[in-house]
Amino acid sequence: MRLVVFKESDEKARIGELASDGNTVFPLDIHGEIESEGILVALDEAGAERRLVRTTEETSLDQVTLLAPIPRPRRNIFCVGKNYHAHVKEMARSGYDTSVTAEAPPECPIIFSKLPESVIGSGQPIVQDASVSVETDYEAELAIIIGRGGCNIAKAHALEHIWGYTAINDVTARDVQKRHKQWLLGKSLDTFCPMGPYFVTSDSLDITDARISCWVNGELRQRASTAQMIFDVATLIATISNGITLLPGDIIATGTPSGVGAGFHPPRWLVPGDTVKIEISGIGILENTVSARS
Ligand code: MG
Repeated sequence: MRLVVFKESDEKARIGELASDGNTVFPLDIHGEIESEGILVALDEAGAERRLVRTTEETSLDQVTLLAPIPRPRRNIFCVGKNYHAHVKEMARSGYDTSVTAEAPPECPIIFSKLPESVIGSGQPIVQDASVSVETDYEAELAIIIGRGGCNIAKAHALEHIWGYTAINDVTARDVQKRHKQWLLGKSLDTFCPMGPYFVTSDSLDITDARISCWVNGELRQRASTAQMIFDVATLIATISNGITLLPGDIIATGTPSGVGAGFHPPRWLVPGDTVKIEISGIGILENTVSARS
């Protein structure tokens, strides 16, 4: 099942089920703080999916404005750094990676976070403020949405805690990241977390081999399979929940493959007018254009 959070004209945000034709949307009879919580209103307090009932209405994707599946996450988005071998190498060579300089893969998952307020939906602009950063980079990533929470989750049971998936562009201000050593600031600028276009329930996607692609202005920059992750999804959930209680609605961005702008010589930063298109097989296309802050 694919869920979409949308608005028609000035109406309130709603949740719909996307039909298999990829265009028809069946609005669901569900209410709550959808404008901020998005799909999370469909989870009960224990993290189980409520019974989802369609209304008698239907609309089409080209008639609506998409919002992120979770427009305002309840807390920071967990992110994974350097989780693909080729990306480890390109970052080590780039000089922008302040944590290590060697090309050796990390021995344990590298976890950082992005602020909830950085989230935008597909079709909304990534706003570049040149007074803050001029080295804007893209990172296409599979994101996990946790359903049932837990602490010290065993790897063998980790996948049972996943409600579903979406795509995230972990947009990064490399100059800010480099200057401040730690990653929170450079990863959390307003609009720097495009998410979507849809949410896909865990029974609808094989994450052992989902294809991730990213184009900038139509030029293919990233292409990989989730099979190439250094630490698989179960390991990531077990690692993060080790002493930290994961909660329903938590988001984990699982790391980006090689091909980011910092990996080119010279680097290829995003500039106003550029369009970044990210596709994860089975999820859909997340597309955002960069604009200059006026
Ligand atoms: Mg990333």
